[in-house]
Amino acid sequence: MDRKGKLARIKKPVSTNLEMAGIMKALNGKPVLFERVKGSASKVIGNLFSTRERIALSLGIKEEKLLERFGRAIDNPKKPPLSASADFIQMENDLRKLPILFHYPKDGGPYITSGIVIAHDKQYGRNCSFHRMMVMGKDRVSMRVLPRHLNTFIERAKGELNVAVCIGCPVNVLLAGATSAALGVDEIGIANALQRTKTVRLDNGIEVPAESEFVLECRITKEMAKEGPFVDITGTYDIVRRQPVMMVDRILRKRNAIYHALLPGGMEHNLLMGMPREPTIFNEVSKECICKGVHITPGGCSWLHAVVSIKKRNENDGKKAINAAFRGHRSLKHVVVVDDDIDIYGPLSVEWAISTRFQADKDMVTRKERGSSLDPSSDQKTRATCKVGIDATKPLGRRAGEFKKATGLTVDLKKYLKR
Ligand code: MN
Repeated sequence: MDRKGKLARIKKPVSTNLEMAGIMKALNGKPVLFERVKGSASKVIGNLFSTRERIALSLGIKEEKLLERFGRAIDNPKKPPLSASADFIQMENDLRKLPILFHYPKDGGPYITSGIVIAHDKQYGRNCSFHRMMVMGKDRVSMRVLPRHLNTFIERAKGELNVAVCIGCPVNVLLAGATSAALGVDEIGIANALQRTKTVRLDNGIEVPAESEFVLECRITKEMAKEGPFVDITGTYDIVRRQPVMMVDRILRKRNAIYHALLPGGMEHNLLMGMPREPTIFNEVSKECICKGVHITPGGCSWLHAVVSIKKRNENDGKKAINAAFRGHRSLKHVVVVDDDIDIYGPLSVEWAISTRFQADKDMVTRKERGSSLDPSSDQKTRATCKVGIDATKPLGRRAGEFKKATGLTVDLKKYLKR
């Protein structure tokens, strides 16, 4: 990227306090390397995986193959080999020496946003998941843990739970960490199926991706503390909650390690968090009908909205696809199902389908159930929300022709505009 002029290099010393986040936001997804950070010896990379093109490039595959390859990796995880040694250097055990960003003015503190927690459980094996972490002191953070797999591990642990936090992971690990597989499925196996990787064993027994730039050896305690406010994927402040406290015992880094800063609500955050839900929706819809594509749209915070295209064979395929999509992504709030002549990446195309192929009294599904806590319009305590599915597919049979865009006008404009 640097050779192609696609990397912004910031040589001027910058502050982790609002300044770096401001630069990342102003660059609107353009990758940036902060070469000198005030108060830290480490460089920082931001906006790294903010486009699908760049993710595909890093994985060594074509962009069009991304969904299919990712879906296959989710269904066929492969345990990565354990490498003998890791070239980690131990740092002073003080989080304040790391370039941890304070992102938005009313946030509760500086936050580690690209940290992937690796945990082991006797019965369920390894789990790997993203958690935002608010720095409370030199070796203490409070972190957001939803009632999912890591939480199950914490509840099953008699005392404290040993974990590792990896920062600066390759894209296969980032995508796998954002994937919601079944309990007992090792997400690092998904990462390895997507692109070959290795793990190394830490002194606390946790096996982590060998390519991590920073690794923190930690313990999740039974203590709870305030976490938040924090601007998350919707760009709004998430509320303050009491969340688990994690102690940091050791900080390891690679030689010349680069810290990965993920701007909350930025394009990279949205893409890394949202895109892994496309293959899980795709796989669920494919069980019901012929699925042609899934797009978690950026307008829906890359989290709450999806467009699904299908090749319709039966009149109820649209409704089946709606219900399958909600199964494939539990936080999904609105889904539009379209025929495969609609461009799912084009908002105008999708809106055209809704305006010409959809009747709310027949083609709409609503369900009152638990959704995303990140949506400020949902109940912030119970996560109760109203989900809506829009079947904007055209009916089958004779009338289908009435729903096609007229074609047949082809002229060579050059002939007319030539002087
Ligand atoms: Mn899991």
